Amino acid sequence: MTLPTPKAHLQSVADTVAGRSAAEPEFLQAVREVLDTLEPVLAQRPEFIEAGILDRLVEPERQLIFRVPWTDDAGRVRVNRGYRVQFNSALGPYKGGLRFHPTVNLSVVKFLGFEQIFKNALTSQRIGGGKGGSDFDPSGKSDAEVMRFCQSFMTELVHHIGEHTDIPAGDIGVGGREIGYLFGQYRRITQRYEAGVLTGKGVGWGGAEVRTEATGYGAVFFAEEMLLRAGEGIEGRRAIVSGSGNVATYAIEKVQQLGGTAVTASDSSGYIVDEAGIDVELLKQIKEVERARISEYAERRSSARFVSSGSVWQVPGELAFPCATQNELDVDDARALIAGGVRAVAEGANMPTTPEAVELFQAAGVLFAPGKAANAGGVATSALEMSQNAARSRWDRQTSESRLHDIMRDVHASAYEASVRYGRPGDYVLGANSAAFETVAQAMLEQGVI
Ligand code: GLU
Repeated sequence: MTLPTPKAHLQSVADTVAGRSAAEPEFLQAVREVLDTLEPVLAQRPEFIEAGILDRLVEPERQLIFRVPWTDDAGRVRVNRGYRVQFNSALGPYKGGLRFHPTVNLSVVKFLGFEQIFKNALTSQRIGGGKGGSDFDPSGKSDAEVMRFCQSFMTELVHHIGEHTDIPAGDIGVGGREIGYLFGQYRRITQRYEAGVLTGKGVGWGGAEVRTEATGYGAVFFAEEMLLRAGEGIEGRRAIVSGSGNVATYAIEKVQQLGGTAVTASDSSGYIVDEAGIDVELLKQIKEVERARISEYAERRSSARFVSSGSVWQVPGELAFPCATQNELDVDDARALIAGGVRAVAEGANMPTTPEAVELFQAAGVLFAPGKAANAGGVATSALEMSQNAARSRWDRQTSESRLHDIMRDVHASAYEASVRYGRPGDYVLGANSAAFETVAQAMLEQGVI
């Protein structure tokens, strides 16, 4: 058998996926982004072509779609759709969050699950990749409605997860409250206190310290590593952050702790600019406690203004942390950021930058960290939570944060070293994809055709 060239092989994998998943644009985007960077790896490792690694890697091991019926406060029966895509378990049990948002569909869950395989590999924590969620919209729902929804969702999910099988966690719309309700129902149905089946639990009952902060903190640690390599730092720099969930809030907090000033936050209704630097406690009060609109922040703070139209990326800054959602930063935004003197971009969200915008940043010499690497701190801390659960131990905050910091340094080093090895030093997209792919591909090779 003569092997196809790496280029021809990548094209044939891309064609197969495009044919099978024509109606899944986000998934195709995520796959293309990875395939586009792998030619140099395949040129050195033809055995990956021979073993059909990529042909298998782009196809989830298992995909579940289920009905989630629940009753609202008015007594009306509602039905949502639930998903869990168990994408790849070569490195460990499936691991990845659940997203509850009206935009969730199979394409979104598959894109997130696919990215998760590589992200999780970069953490070196021996976890496979998966993702799930529902088109349920928690906003505007009462706690009781959210609880009934979570209980119904878990009543089906319970059959497919376990501490050695698949370990869900949070994502957009799924935080501590939802994980609590999901865990309660899991425990009730199984009659087992299997703490390691979900991560992001309350710290009083098995959750890891710093898990809530980990994704945002980690993205800033990653940006700091990129800047340090270039002889620069975060201190004294102005940061533009999108989003106002966990990721954005704790990215803002860490930027300020490291001496920078984060001046923006956003939600689906618009964004705020606070030239005095975002007051993190006020932001948490409004978004976490009151679950109110971001405009409320400007109502309560005189240094801030609320902008209801346009994009937060029109605000100039030296650091940018997209922490909201996929494809939130396009070419126009990238042009505006570059014109405003941006030096580094680190993705706190999953795939927030469109491929064309990534190209613009790279061509302009902006340090660019893809989400797979930059936001890996969240899932890495989830893996630390699993370790603590398995050992029935609990680490303090300082230990937890320093472990997170070490992991982010390692993720940065692996991505950077791979970028050097494959001839494009400082191209973190190529570096993250190739380092992660090599790890997963090697494990798949050694485990045979399954
Ligand atoms: N949803 C998060 C992510 O995108 C965290 C997943 C986890 O902790 O399992 O990585």
